[in-house]
Amino acid sequence: MKVVVLSGGVGGARFVQGLVDVVEPSDVSVVGNVGDNVEVLGLHVSPDLDSILYALAGLNDETRGWGRADESWRALETVGELGGETWFQLGDLDLGLHLVRTQALRSGEPLSGVTQRLAGELGIETRVLPATDDRLRTWIRTPASEFPFQEWFVARGHRDEVDAVRFEGEADATPAPGVLEALAEADLLLVAPSNPYVSIWPILAVSAIREALAARRVPAVALSPLIGGRAVRGPADRMLARLAGGTSPSHVAGTYRGLIDVLVVDEADSDDLEGLGDVRPIVTRTLMADPEARRRLAEAALGAVPV
Ligand code: GDP
Ligand code: CA
Repeated sequence: MKVVVLSGGVGGARFVQGLVDVVEPSDVSVVGNVGDNVEVLGLHVSPDLDSILYALAGLNDETRGWGRADESWRALETVGELGGETWFQLGDLDLGLHLVRTQALRSGEPLSGVTQRLAGELGIETRVLPATDDRLRTWIRTPASEFPFQEWFVARGHRDEVDAVRFEGEADATPAPGVLEALAEADLLLVAPSNPYVSIWPILAVSAIREALAARRVPAVALSPLIGGRAVRGPADRMLARLAGGTSPSHVAGTYRGLIDVLVVDEADSDDLEGLGDVRPIVTRTLMADPEARRRLAEAALGAVPV
Protein backbone atom coordinates (compact mmCIF):
# COMPACT_ATOMS: atom_id res chain seq x y z
CA MET A 1 0.00 0.00 0.00
CA LYS A 2 1.37 3.39 -1.02
CA VAL A 3 0.72 6.28 1.33
CA VAL A 4 1.22 10.04 1.04
CA VAL A 5 1.20 12.14 4.18
CA LEU A 6 1.03 15.92 4.30
CA SER A 7 3.08 17.03 7.28
CA GLY A 8 4.24 19.95 9.35
CA GLY A 9 7.15 19.69 11.75
CA VAL A 10 6.97 18.15 15.19
CA GLY A 11 3.44 16.67 15.25
CA GLY A 12 3.82 15.51 11.67
CA ALA A 13 7.25 13.99 12.23
CA ARG A 14 6.06 12.05 15.28
CA PHE A 15 3.21 10.63 13.26
CA VAL A 16 5.42 9.74 10.30
CA GLN A 17 7.69 7.80 12.68
CA GLY A 18 4.70 5.66 13.64
CA LEU A 19 3.59 5.32 10.04
CA VAL A 20 6.87 3.83 8.83
CA ASP A 21 6.54 1.24 11.60
CA VAL A 22 3.38 -0.13 10.00
CA VAL A 23 3.90 0.62 6.29
CA GLU A 24 7.01 -0.22 4.28
CA PRO A 25 9.07 3.00 4.66
CA SER A 26 9.77 3.10 0.92
CA ASP A 27 6.00 3.07 0.25
CA VAL A 28 5.56 6.32 2.21
CA SER A 29 5.99 9.78 0.70
CA VAL A 30 5.95 12.78 3.01
CA VAL A 31 4.98 16.15 1.55
CA GLY A 32 6.41 18.73 3.93
CA ASN A 33 5.56 22.33 4.69
CA VAL A 34 8.02 24.97 3.50
CA GLY A 35 6.05 28.06 4.58
CA ASP A 36 8.16 28.21 7.78
CA ASN A 37 11.46 28.32 5.90
CA VAL A 38 13.70 31.13 7.00
CA GLU A 39 17.13 32.59 6.32
CA VAL A 40 19.12 32.88 9.53
CA LEU A 41 22.75 34.05 9.68
CA GLY A 42 22.93 33.58 5.93
CA LEU A 43 21.71 30.00 6.13
CA HIS A 44 18.58 28.51 4.63
CA VAL A 45 16.63 26.68 7.35
CA SER A 46 13.65 24.39 6.57
CA PRO A 47 12.45 23.55 10.08
CA ASP A 48 9.59 21.23 9.16
CA LEU A 49 11.56 19.22 6.60
CA ASP A 50 14.36 18.92 9.14
CA SER A 51 12.02 17.67 11.87
CA ILE A 52 10.90 14.96 9.44
CA LEU A 53 14.45 14.07 8.38
CA TYR A 54 15.74 13.93 11.95
CA ALA A 55 12.77 11.84 13.13
CA LEU A 56 13.08 9.35 10.28
CA ALA A 57 16.84 9.08 10.85
CA GLY A 58 16.32 8.60 14.60
CA LEU A 59 18.41 11.70 15.32
CA ASN A 60 15.63 13.85 16.79
CA ASP A 61 15.45 15.09 20.37
CA GLU A 62 12.37 13.44 21.89
CA THR A 63 12.07 15.66 24.94
CA ARG A 64 12.65 19.05 23.34
CA GLY A 65 10.46 17.96 20.45
CA TRP A 66 12.54 19.65 17.75
CA GLY A 67 16.14 19.57 16.58
CA ARG A 68 18.73 16.90 17.21
CA ALA A 69 19.45 14.78 20.28
CA ASP A 70 22.75 15.37 22.09
CA GLU A 71 22.82 18.88 20.65
CA SER A 72 25.24 21.57 21.82
CA TRP A 73 25.08 25.31 21.27
CA ARG A 74 28.67 26.55 21.13
CA ALA A 75 28.43 28.12 17.68
CA LEU A 76 25.33 30.10 18.69
CA GLU A 77 27.06 31.20 21.92
CA THR A 78 29.86 32.56 19.81
CA VAL A 79 27.36 34.30 17.55
CA GLY A 80 25.92 36.00 20.63
CA GLU A 81 29.34 36.99 21.96
CA LEU A 82 30.04 38.59 18.60
CA GLY A 83 26.81 40.54 18.53
CA GLY A 84 25.11 38.35 15.92
CA GLU A 85 21.44 37.37 15.88
CA THR A 86 20.55 34.55 18.27
CA TRP A 87 16.74 34.64 18.32
CA PHE A 88 16.50 31.49 16.19
CA GLN A 89 18.07 28.51 17.93
CA LEU A 90 20.57 26.68 15.76
CA GLY A 91 22.50 23.88 17.44
CA ASP A 92 26.00 22.82 16.46
CA LEU A 93 24.90 19.51 14.93
CA ASP A 94 21.91 21.09 13.23
CA LEU A 95 24.15 23.76 11.71
CA GLY A 96 26.02 21.12 9.74
CA LEU A 97 22.87 20.28 7.80
CA HIS A 98 22.06 23.94 7.17
CA LEU A 99 25.56 24.52 5.80
CA VAL A 100 25.30 21.65 3.33
CA ARG A 101 21.81 22.65 2.21
CA THR A 102 22.59 26.34 1.88
CA GLN A 103 25.62 25.65 -0.27
CA ALA A 104 23.60 23.34 -2.52
CA LEU A 105 20.79 25.87 -2.93
CA ARG A 106 23.31 28.60 -3.70
CA SER A 107 24.88 26.47 -6.40
CA GLY A 108 21.44 26.15 -8.01
CA GLU A 109 20.20 22.80 -6.73
CA PRO A 110 16.43 22.83 -6.01
CA LEU A 111 15.23 22.26 -2.43
CA SER A 112 13.68 18.93 -3.46
CA GLY A 113 17.01 17.75 -4.85
CA VAL A 114 19.05 18.62 -1.80
CA THR A 115 16.35 17.21 0.52
CA GLN A 116 16.46 13.90 -1.34
CA ARG A 117 20.25 13.86 -1.12
CA LEU A 118 20.22 14.61 2.62
CA ALA A 119 17.63 11.87 3.17
CA GLY A 120 19.83 9.43 1.25
CA GLU A 121 22.92 10.33 3.27
CA LEU A 122 20.89 9.84 6.47
CA GLY A 123 19.82 6.36 5.31
CA ILE A 124 16.14 7.30 4.99
CA GLU A 125 14.09 5.13 2.61
CA THR A 126 10.94 7.23 2.86
CA ARG A 127 10.53 9.95 0.25
CA VAL A 128 10.66 13.39 1.83
CA LEU A 129 9.38 16.02 -0.58
CA PRO A 130 9.01 19.74 -0.03
CA ALA A 131 5.55 20.84 -1.18
CA THR A 132 7.24 23.18 -3.63
CA ASP A 133 10.70 24.25 -4.74
CA ASP A 134 9.35 27.75 -5.27
CA ARG A 135 9.57 30.45 -2.64
CA LEU A 136 6.47 30.18 -0.45
CA ARG A 137 6.37 32.01 2.89
CA THR A 138 3.75 32.14 5.60
CA TRP A 139 2.77 35.56 7.00
CA ILE A 140 0.73 36.00 10.17
CA ARG A 141 -1.62 38.92 10.56
CA THR A 142 -2.18 39.92 14.19
CA PRO A 143 -3.69 42.94 15.92
CA ALA A 144 -0.14 44.28 16.37
CA SER A 145 1.10 43.88 12.79
CA GLU A 146 1.69 41.32 10.08
CA PHE A 147 4.78 39.19 10.79
CA PRO A 148 6.84 36.65 8.86
CA PHE A 149 6.01 33.25 10.35
CA GLN A 150 9.18 32.71 12.39
CA GLU A 151 9.15 36.24 13.78
CA TRP A 152 5.65 35.61 15.14
CA PHE A 153 6.28 32.00 16.20
CA VAL A 154 9.80 32.11 17.62
CA ALA A 155 10.78 35.73 18.26
CA ARG A 156 7.36 36.73 19.67
CA GLY A 157 6.57 33.28 21.11
CA HIS A 158 3.28 33.05 19.10
CA ARG A 159 1.64 35.20 21.78
CA ASP A 160 -0.16 37.53 19.35
CA GLU A 161 -3.64 36.36 18.41
CA VAL A 162 -3.97 35.50 14.72
CA ASP A 163 -6.46 37.31 12.51
CA ALA A 164 -5.38 35.76 9.20
CA VAL A 165 -2.66 33.75 7.53
CA ARG A 166 -1.28 34.47 4.08
CA PHE A 167 1.13 32.56 1.86
CA GLU A 168 3.49 34.77 -0.08
CA GLY A 169 4.28 33.21 -3.45
CA GLU A 170 1.27 30.89 -3.56
CA ALA A 171 0.01 32.16 -6.92
CA ASP A 172 3.17 31.01 -8.67
CA ALA A 173 4.07 27.96 -6.59
CA THR A 174 4.08 24.64 -8.40
CA PRO A 175 4.49 21.23 -6.72
CA ALA A 176 8.04 19.99 -6.32
CA PRO A 177 9.02 17.12 -8.64
CA GLY A 178 7.51 13.87 -7.38
CA VAL A 179 4.65 15.38 -5.40
CA LEU A 180 1.86 15.01 -7.96
CA GLU A 181 3.20 11.58 -8.98
CA ALA A 182 3.14 10.43 -5.35
CA LEU A 183 -0.41 11.75 -4.92
CA ALA A 184 -1.53 10.00 -8.12
CA GLU A 185 -0.02 6.65 -7.10
CA ALA A 186 -1.21 6.68 -3.49
CA ASP A 187 -3.74 4.20 -2.13
CA LEU A 188 -4.28 6.42 0.90
CA LEU A 189 -3.82 10.13 1.56
CA LEU A 190 -3.08 11.25 5.11
CA VAL A 191 -2.98 14.64 6.78
CA ALA A 192 -0.73 14.44 9.85
CA PRO A 193 -1.82 15.80 13.26
CA SER A 194 -0.20 19.12 12.42
CA ASN A 195 -1.37 22.70 12.80
CA PRO A 196 -3.98 23.10 10.01
CA TYR A 197 -3.37 26.79 9.42
CA VAL A 198 0.39 27.10 9.48
CA SER A 199 1.57 23.59 8.64
CA ILE A 200 -1.02 22.09 6.26
CA TRP A 201 -2.57 25.16 4.60
CA PRO A 202 0.81 26.27 3.21
CA ILE A 203 1.03 22.87 1.46
CA LEU A 204 -2.54 23.24 0.17
CA ALA A 205 -1.70 26.78 -0.96
CA VAL A 206 0.07 25.10 -3.88
CA SER A 207 -3.05 24.98 -6.01
CA ALA A 208 -2.11 21.84 -7.94
CA ILE A 209 -1.72 19.93 -4.65
CA ARG A 210 -5.09 21.14 -3.36
CA GLU A 211 -6.71 20.22 -6.70
CA ALA A 212 -5.16 16.74 -6.62
CA LEU A 213 -6.62 16.18 -3.15
CA ALA A 214 -10.01 17.56 -4.13
CA ALA A 215 -10.10 15.20 -7.15
CA ARG A 216 -8.87 12.14 -5.19
CA ARG A 217 -10.05 8.62 -6.04
CA VAL A 218 -8.74 7.13 -2.78
CA PRO A 219 -9.63 7.88 0.86
CA ALA A 220 -8.14 10.90 2.58
CA VAL A 221 -7.76 10.74 6.35
CA ALA A 222 -6.78 13.66 8.58
CA LEU A 223 -5.63 13.31 12.17
CA SER A 224 -6.70 15.95 14.64
CA PRO A 225 -3.89 17.79 16.43
CA LEU A 226 -6.24 18.54 19.34
CA ILE A 227 -6.94 16.42 22.40
CA GLY A 228 -9.95 17.51 24.43
CA GLY A 229 -10.10 20.67 22.33
CA ARG A 230 -6.53 21.60 23.33
CA ALA A 231 -3.33 21.53 21.30
CA VAL A 232 -0.72 19.16 22.69
CA ARG A 233 1.61 22.12 22.23
CA GLY A 234 1.63 25.29 20.18
CA PRO A 235 -1.12 27.68 19.08
CA ALA A 236 -3.44 25.40 17.02
CA ASP A 237 -6.26 25.53 19.58
CA ARG A 238 -6.15 29.31 19.94
CA MET A 239 -6.04 29.71 16.18
CA LEU A 240 -9.03 27.40 15.67
CA ALA A 241 -11.02 29.18 18.36
CA ARG A 242 -10.40 32.56 16.76
CA LEU A 243 -10.37 31.70 13.05
CA ALA A 244 -12.91 28.85 12.92
CA GLY A 245 -15.04 29.75 15.95
CA GLY A 246 -14.30 26.64 18.01
CA THR A 247 -12.05 23.67 18.72
CA SER A 248 -14.39 20.72 18.21
CA PRO A 249 -13.71 17.98 15.63
CA SER A 250 -16.10 19.70 13.20
CA HIS A 251 -14.02 22.88 13.42
CA VAL A 252 -10.85 20.89 12.69
CA ALA A 253 -12.56 19.09 9.78
CA GLY A 254 -13.77 22.45 8.49
CA THR A 255 -10.19 23.53 7.84
CA TYR A 256 -9.96 20.69 5.27
CA ARG A 257 -13.40 21.13 3.70
CA GLY A 258 -13.86 18.95 0.61
CA LEU A 259 -10.42 17.41 1.02
CA ILE A 260 -10.91 14.64 3.61
CA ASP A 261 -13.24 11.68 4.11
CA VAL A 262 -12.25 10.69 7.63
CA LEU A 263 -11.06 12.56 10.73
CA VAL A 264 -9.25 10.65 13.45
CA VAL A 265 -10.20 12.28 16.76
CA ASP A 266 -9.18 11.64 20.32
CA GLU A 267 -11.40 9.80 22.81
CA ALA A 268 -11.47 13.03 24.80
CA ASP A 269 -13.41 14.65 21.92
CA SER A 270 -15.81 11.76 21.29
CA ASP A 271 -18.85 13.45 22.87
CA ASP A 272 -18.58 16.34 20.45
CA LEU A 273 -18.93 14.76 17.00
CA GLU A 274 -21.76 16.89 15.67
CA GLY A 275 -21.49 18.87 12.46
CA LEU A 276 -18.96 16.62 10.73
CA GLY A 277 -21.27 16.20 7.74
CA ASP A 278 -19.94 13.54 5.42
CA VAL A 279 -16.59 13.35 7.23
CA ARG A 280 -16.54 10.06 9.15
CA PRO A 281 -14.94 10.15 12.60
CA ILE A 282 -12.61 7.46 13.90
CA VAL A 283 -12.23 7.73 17.66
CA THR A 284 -9.06 6.51 19.32
CA ARG A 285 -6.30 7.61 21.68
CA THR A 286 -4.19 10.08 19.74
CA LEU A 287 -1.44 11.11 22.17
CA MET A 288 1.84 9.97 20.57
CA ALA A 289 3.64 9.56 23.88
CA ASP A 290 5.91 6.71 22.79
CA PRO A 291 6.69 4.52 19.76
CA GLU A 292 3.85 2.12 20.58
CA ALA A 293 1.30 4.96 20.78
CA ARG A 294 2.57 6.40 17.47
CA ARG A 295 2.26 2.99 15.83
CA ARG A 296 -1.30 2.51 17.10
CA LEU A 297 -2.33 5.93 15.81
CA ALA A 298 -0.90 5.11 12.37
CA GLU A 299 -2.80 1.81 12.40
CA ALA A 300 -6.03 3.63 13.25
CA ALA A 301 -5.55 5.91 10.25
CA LEU A 302 -4.79 2.96 7.97
CA GLY A 303 -7.94 1.29 9.28
CA ALA A 304 -9.93 3.77 7.24
CA VAL A 305 -9.01 1.92 4.05
CA PRO A 306 -11.33 -0.95 3.08
CA VAL A 307 -9.29 -4.16 2.60
P1 GDP B 1 5.38 22.24 13.88
O1 GDP B 1 5.48 22.54 12.42
O2 GDP B 1 6.68 21.82 14.48
O3 GDP B 1 4.64 23.27 14.66
O4 GDP B 1 4.55 20.91 14.00
P2 GDP B 1 3.17 20.42 13.40
O5 GDP B 1 2.32 21.49 12.85
O6 GDP B 1 3.43 19.23 12.55
O7 GDP B 1 2.55 19.86 14.75
C1 GDP B 1 2.04 20.72 15.74
C2 GDP B 1 0.75 20.13 16.22
O8 GDP B 1 0.99 18.78 16.61
C3 GDP B 1 0.19 20.82 17.43
O9 GDP B 1 -1.03 21.42 17.09
C4 GDP B 1 0.00 19.70 18.45
O10 GDP B 1 -1.24 19.80 19.11
C5 GDP B 1 0.06 18.46 17.59
N1 GDP B 1 0.57 17.32 18.31
C6 GDP B 1 1.80 17.19 18.86
N2 GDP B 1 1.90 16.00 19.49
C7 GDP B 1 0.70 15.38 19.32
C8 GDP B 1 0.17 14.13 19.76
O11 GDP B 1 0.84 13.34 20.44
N3 GDP B 1 -1.11 13.82 19.38
C9 GDP B 1 -1.86 14.69 18.63
N4 GDP B 1 -3.12 14.32 18.31
N5 GDP B 1 -1.39 15.88 18.22
C10 GDP B 1 -0.14 16.21 18.56
CA1 CA C 1 6.30 24.23 11.36
